[in-house]
Amino acid sequence: MSLAQTRDECQPTDLTVDRTAGEFVISWADGHRSAYGLAWMRSVCPCASCREDRRQAEKDPLRLAVGPPPDPKVESAELVGNYAIRFTWADGHGNGIYGFSSLRASCPCSACNQGEPGDLLGS
Ligand SMILES: [Zn+2]
Ligand SMILES: [Zn+2]
Repeated sequence: MSLAQTRDECQPTDLTVDRTAGEFVISWADGHRSAYGLAWMRSVCPCASCREDRRQAEKDPLRLAVGPPPDPKVESAELVGNYAIRFTWADGHGNGIYGFSSLRASCPCSACNQGEPGDLLGS
């Protein structure tokens, strides 16, 4: 029995963190390939405290100018069940769980999403 969330377009066959290129690359079961910038992954961290930070930053854009951006170096990545991946960043932050369906919906390639990468979709 396969679950609805394991349909091909949300099912990775290969996951690679390319530290040199600064990219997280997913090959999907339907043949599509997505490459996410690690800086983007870090900036859209879906954990509760990062979401709150972004909410505050939206209310007060000047907050964005305070301090350096978070370090997008990946310490480790681990699968969460068969539906998500969790990144631990070099600065020790590691609460964000990136659902594969959200990642697929946020694929930055021109066929999926045009223009600037936005927030992580569906998270
Ligand atoms: Zn976070
Ligand atoms: Zn795509």
